[in-house]
Amino acid sequence: MLDAAFFRRWMTATAASVDREAERLTALDSPIGDADHGSNLQRGFTAVAAALEKEAPDTPGGVLTLAGRQLISTVGGASGPLYGTLLRRAGKALGDASEVSAEQLAEALRTGVDAVMTLGGAAPGDKTMIDALVPAVDALGDSFAASRTAAEEGAVATTPLQARKGRASYLGERSIGHQDPGATSAALLVAALAEAAD
Ligand code: ADP
Ligand code: MG
Ligand code: MG
Repeated sequence: MLDAAFFRRWMTATAASVDREAERLTALDSPIGDADHGSNLQRGFTAVAAALEKEAPDTPGGVLTLAGRQLISTVGGASGPLYGTLLRRAGKALGDASEVSAEQLAEALRTGVDAVMTLGGAAPGDKTMIDALVPAVDALGDSFAASRTAAEEGAVATTPLQARKGRASYLGERSIGHQDPGATSAALLVAALAEAAD
């Protein structure tokens, strides 16, 4: 079973890896975006880590809803409301249980990813974070490690795609040949889940 401490570890591990990878995320957002994805998420997850340290919610759902709220209120770019919705909706789906199973987490994240697709209008293949998140959730029933691999493969697989959502879509065919920054950061989020479980 996964408790609130596990979810806090997941969020702080994500903050640490976003910090480490911020320059790479911004570099990926440079040819097909506005070169701010790393700094956007760094600001957002720094706020998440600070809020969790201050409040330390004692349920998994409480951790994720607090994290989601912080992302929505601190990140100006498209990724803030999208990641914020993912975590807030997943948190809401977990309710006020003090521990949840891996299956419940997978179901809650499915709900969250569906909410992101509704909010942003992106489907798999549109070259967005969805291309890492959907395969990650599909593989979560197997293991956190399998989910991490699926997310990383999903992010790499965005390279040959033409963007149909977000800023990169303004480039049309010129968006082809670049890995999507949001799919790359989504893989960091999923990798941190495996780290929190170690
Ligand atoms: P902005 O584009 O506002 O500067 P970011 O650079 O922080 O925001 O985030 C860009 C990422 O957000 C993209 O790489 C993509 O993965 C994701 N994204 C953008 N629009 C959408 C959307 N409508 N649905 C899903 N993901 C999206
Ligand atoms: Mg950007
Ligand atoms: Mg921007």
